[in-house]
Amino acid sequence: MKAVTVVPLVKDSLALRDMPKPSPKRGQVLLSPIEVGVCGTDKDIIEGRYGAPPPGEEHLILGHEAVAEVVELGDGVDNVSVGDIVIPTVRRPTTCTLPIGELDYCPRGTYTEHGIWYLHGFAAEFAVTDAKYLVRVPKEAIDVAVLTEPLSIVEKGIDLAIKLGQARFESWSPRRVLIMGAGPIGMLALMVMRLRGFTDITVTATRPYDSLKAKLTREIGATYVNTNVDQVNGDFDIVIEATGSTSAAYDALRHLGVDGVAVLLGIYLDSKTVNMGPLLDDWRRNKLIIGATNASIRAFEMGVSDLVKAKLEFGGWVRKLITKEVTLDEYEYAYNWGHEDIKSVIQIRSL
Ligand code: BGC
Repeated sequence: MKAVTVVPLVKDSLALRDMPKPSPKRGQVLLSPIEVGVCGTDKDIIEGRYGAPPPGEEHLILGHEAVAEVVELGDGVDNVSVGDIVIPTVRRPTTCTLPIGELDYCPRGTYTEHGIWYLHGFAAEFAVTDAKYLVRVPKEAIDVAVLTEPLSIVEKGIDLAIKLGQARFESWSPRRVLIMGAGPIGMLALMVMRLRGFTDITVTATRPYDSLKAKLTREIGATYVNTNVDQVNGDFDIVIEATGSTSAAYDALRHLGVDGVAVLLGIYLDSKTVNMGPLLDDWRRNKLIIGATNASIRAFEMGVSDLVKAKLEFGGWVRKLITKEVTLDEYEYAYNWGHEDIKSVIQIRSL
């Protein structure tokens, strides 16, 4: 079967290879991936900074953001059926002893991750995974379901922001929201905040005011600020950082108002040193910082249900977040997205 592979930690080893078709063991299913999204983590793996192959193998199949069809059941599987359209969650415990709903809190080294750490991913004609970690997708969300994995992390971050914000004092009522970054995470955060009823939302990025990102921001009632030419004013109750740059994360904290909650959703590999001094005094004012890069199966379920709601509320807006679609043979283009792109997707097969 064809699969998009790398030799982990070897820069530019990305290749479409013929790999053996896997077969499901007890408790597993065989999946036929439909669409696979690509993200910054894939880029880091391709650049040789991240990732590991399954034990005893040289190659790792990429792809941890997938929507797939169940095509075969291993023994003992009764939670899904052949023909179901599903989202496979990413993480599987090895020595982690936390319950299934809390795997996102497993310490490093106690889990594997599809397409990232020690488990093949889904950018292939077939894949196997454990059935109990699948989330079913209703028909009306299939065309946007490839967004579920990145959305799960946004759901977790926002859910925590609101719950933990209110855990400090019940009458906390956040109003002003700043979302930094208009890539997939930023735009999905905008979608979720609009669905939660927030109306005072500012999204920042460095694209022009007539760019797609700016237009999509305004289309569902938020304000866009191009930080190349304009500044963001005032303090915010919730700041969501979705650029993955250390200096933006610093700015996110700077924009946080009294009693505010910051949600950092990037993976900050640039490890720039920043001087936290100017922020420290300010932080005595009941501020809270939350970080998330992986989410629980419950957050995936919240994501699927929000995709259904968003399609009802915002129509074709959600699908517009997918700005680049390529076939498996054109896989390389998917990993070369530009600043105007939001989500790039490899379409493995049609429905
Ligand atoms: C994935 C997460 C994963 C993290 C770290 C992210 O891109 O979305 O599922 O846990 O990378 O490997």
